[in-house]
Amino acid sequence: MTEYETIIGLEIHTHLKTKSKMFCACSTEFGQPPNSNICPVCTGQPGALPVLNKEAVSLAIRCGLALNCTINKKSVFARKNYFYPDLPKAYQISQFDLPITQAGFVQLPLPDGTEKRVGITRAHLEEDAGKLVHQGAEGIEGATASHVDFNRSSVPLLEIVSEPDLRSAEEARAYLDKIKSILQYAEVSEANMEEGKLRCDANVSIRPVGQKEFGVKVEIKNMNSFRAVERAIKIEVERQKQVLAAGQKVVQETRSYDEAAGRTVSMRGKEESHDYRYFPEPDLLPLLIDDAWVAQVKQDLPELAEQRVKRYQEAYGISAYDARVLTLDKAVADFFDAAARLYGGDKKTIVNWLTTDVLGYLKNENLELGQTKLTPPQLVEMLGLIDNQTISGKIAKDLLVKILQTGASAQKLVEQGGLRQITDEGELQKIIQEILAAHPKQLEQYRSGKTALKGYFVGETMRRTKGQASPPLVNQLLDRLLA
Ligand SMILES: [Zn+2]
Repeated sequence: MTEYETIIGLEIHTHLKTKSKMFCACSTEFGQPPNSNICPVCTGQPGALPVLNKEAVSLAIRCGLALNCTINKKSVFARKNYFYPDLPKAYQISQFDLPITQAGFVQLPLPDGTEKRVGITRAHLEEDAGKLVHQGAEGIEGATASHVDFNRSSVPLLEIVSEPDLRSAEEARAYLDKIKSILQYAEVSEANMEEGKLRCDANVSIRPVGQKEFGVKVEIKNMNSFRAVERAIKIEVERQKQVLAAGQKVVQETRSYDEAAGRTVSMRGKEESHDYRYFPEPDLLPLLIDDAWVAQVKQDLPELAEQRVKRYQEAYGISAYDARVLTLDKAVADFFDAAARLYGGDKKTIVNWLTTDVLGYLKNENLELGQTKLTPPQLVEMLGLIDNQTISGKIAKDLLVKILQTGASAQKLVEQGGLRQITDEGELQKIIQEILAAHPKQLEQYRSGKTALKGYFVGETMRRTKGQASPPLVNQLLDRLLA
């Protein structure tokens, strides 16, 4: 069997966080009634002229800097010609020969602790298209009617094109996580896939290990989550292997990912760039950016993830690994900063609760932090209850889940649930004596030398007290009573 190497490049489209559209004053607000944010420019009426949104350019420069790209002093808008019902002009204003930024890179942290550099070919400005809304069916097949909503038409987009540097579906996922994180820290985009503010297409090919030339690449579209991107790539790689194993050739084409069926389906033959008949947009002058503009954007750049990793290491003495886990999602890092300001104890305690318990919960429930009810003051309140020995760490773990789900205060939950830690020596001693009396066999074995059985009695005590016994006190009392 031939062994193959996977080659992946990703094209990410992200909405830029501007108030108005790319070439007109219409609002970009998501979730408005259909066709309420439109005008002659973004619906492509004859004679309407585009006016470039300066803020979109500033955000593109900012993103370019965060992606370590060169910012081109001169870039040109071009018409990309194709017909589609949601594209009233029958062309999209994009950039082709001269993009606003190019030749950057990002550093991906890999699970083995090393880093991988992934090249960014270019990040260029373009406008989004409108949206088709099919009635009576999920997709276009079987729809009884199709409507067009132009609210999204001409919303500013940045298309970030990577070099074909990714070698597995997992690396592609890590790259997506990293790009999302960079976009959020640079505050250029909300970058959420649910609202279509981040979309991703993947170019996937395989080649025999050791071969220099790339194999024939297939573009995959319609992946609606990061998880879907990872799965679709795995499925496509397997399909290409089977095609080659059957002695056939991989065809260059665009395929759609069908999540329910777990396969990719041919959509159309891959178009080449010359099929779009690109030419410079005659209604817009070349975009000129001077050093002063770039310097201003650089000065306004918010604290980026890598800077925050360094700050956490220096200020709180946490490991680089923990700092990276903490900063991957900006919402989690912001939460940590807010909690650290409120908490008087060792900040590493917050790190531990966030990186293990909170992130573990989010992963299991497939949620974002913002979708839970937990706030920094609530977490700090709970940590205070552990510190003053009102509750045990074990009880706190259960409490945390309740707070994440309901937003109730830890103090209230403790009072309502009678969860206060048992620190009364007399009360606990009585319970342990009862347990020892109820297990004469184990007690005899312990006394005849099987001292590991102490753990058994600790477990019984914790079970009996529903986790409320103070563990140090249980140990201390057992040592005394078993002696
Ligand atoms: Zn408009």
